Amino acid sequence: MITSYVYKLRPNQYQSSKMSSWLDTCRFLFNWMLVDRELAYHSSFIMGDYCILKWKSECCPLTCSPSKGSYFGYCWKDNGGISNRKKDDNAKPKKVNPRRSVVETQITLATRLKKELTFLKEVDSTVLQQVVRRVDDAFDGFFNKGKGYPNFKNRSAYKSFQYATGVLINGSKIYLPGIGWMRFYNSRELPTGFEIKTVTIRCKQDGWYISVRLEDKTVPDYPIRDVSEINTATALDMGLVKLAYCSDGSVVDNPKFGTSEKAKRTLKIRSRNLSRKKKGSKNRSKACKRLGKYHQKITNKREAYQWEVANQIVKKADAIIVEDLNIAGMIRRCKPKVDEHGNYIKNGQSAKKALNRLIADASWGNLIKKLEYLAVKQGKRLVKVNPQYTSQKCSVCGHIDAANRDGEKFACLNCGHLDDANIQAARNIKCRGVEQFGLVLKTRPRKVRVNVRRDSSEPKQLSLFEMPTSEVTEIRRYRGSGNRKRREPGNQIGEQLCLFDLDILDSSYSA
Ligand SMILES: [Zn+2]
Repeated sequence: MITSYVYKLRPNQYQSSKMSSWLDTCRFLFNWMLVDRELAYHSSFIMGDYCILKWKSECCPLTCSPSKGSYFGYCWKDNGGISNRKKDDNAKPKKVNPRRSVVETQITLATRLKKELTFLKEVDSTVLQQVVRRVDDAFDGFFNKGKGYPNFKNRSAYKSFQYATGVLINGSKIYLPGIGWMRFYNSRELPTGFEIKTVTIRCKQDGWYISVRLEDKTVPDYPIRDVSEINTATALDMGLVKLAYCSDGSVVDNPKFGTSEKAKRTLKIRSRNLSRKKKGSKNRSKACKRLGKYHQKITNKREAYQWEVANQIVKKADAIIVEDLNIAGMIRRCKPKVDEHGNYIKNGQSAKKALNRLIADASWGNLIKKLEYLAVKQGKRLVKVNPQYTSQKCSVCGHIDAANRDGEKFACLNCGHLDDANIQAARNIKCRGVEQFGLVLKTRPRKVRVNVRRDSSEPKQLSLFEMPTSEVTEIRRYRGSGNRKRREPGNQIGEQLCLFDLDILDSSYSA
């Protein structure tokens, strides 16, 4: 099993400045290795698919051996591919791939580079190796995982470096090779029996953090529950007024950490302060830090809230069904519109800007990631379904019409079914997930009666934390006896009843 723990470091001034300079060196090496690959690619593009007879290399330099014609470009391993490690005389020497992979070539290259660029020597060698691996990962992402082409990193884009070996932890002190013993806030104990795999040091706005990746081979991975063992399911419809609507009728509040009035005001003031400072001045860097710290604070709050919410949701059922949303597409800028004279006309982007910010602030993708992680950890499942028409379809008769929905209210034009539009959408998502993945929900949801005052303004929306963990099937409204006006003739004048309230009022009164 693999887990990772994050701690905040307490470096002294010397260590802190040393880590900053290491970051710069690593960033230099990253950019250098990127150039190396590109040059190799272009040289082969110009000169054709040649090879040097000694090395017999095939050429595809971005993912294969780069710099094949250069001094450094050893494509073959020195031992000709025969492993010279002999533990046992009778054992046959193990045959390994004689060609160097691109990572191996570039690691050799980095070692040789140290002779010419002496500042590379200051950084621990495993850290430099991890930088080369990072370049390789970036290309792997581009060629195999549909990510963007790796680009050069500036100071704000390169904020971490990684150790592969040599890190020791003792109490609340950690030993980092090349930097020394450093204190850290030991906020939770490391589990025993785990082996430290990699250690990542990350620079954030409010200091340095360390992420320790741990592995214990004796502990098995989390088992994934078979579809036939799933007995209960709950579905989520993501929203902005509320963060999420559950199919059982409960809702998750959206605290809008980054788009509340207070946050917007603070961000506005601090960014204005920053923009008025002279470029390159110390005051500007101070203002920049102040703004960054506020952004960090917003992120921290959001993360904490989302973990709490995700834990609560995963407790509800064996399977969690969510929409497979294309969030990047939702917050993409509108395409520019041009009139017949070639002038740009309004394309609705300015109106969409606020919505985009709300969506980005709600951070649905991160919540879904957390749900997925927690579901796997508890042996449960998270499934994604196509979001098409979930908010227009009637969950009773299946009639699909855009006119069914009016804001927060849902009224089916075919059968007259009335509901809260978002909770109705969550029910559709649940049905779709159950159908699509062939879930057989064995136990019927336990009947829980929730009493809600009839004159309550939001009678059906219970907060996630008020709702019992099983599905609710019945919501009973009772007549509140609070400080209401007495119902006497004459008192009813001017009292407007909502359409949704009418069906449950007793007839003697409504007449
Ligand atoms: Zn209907």
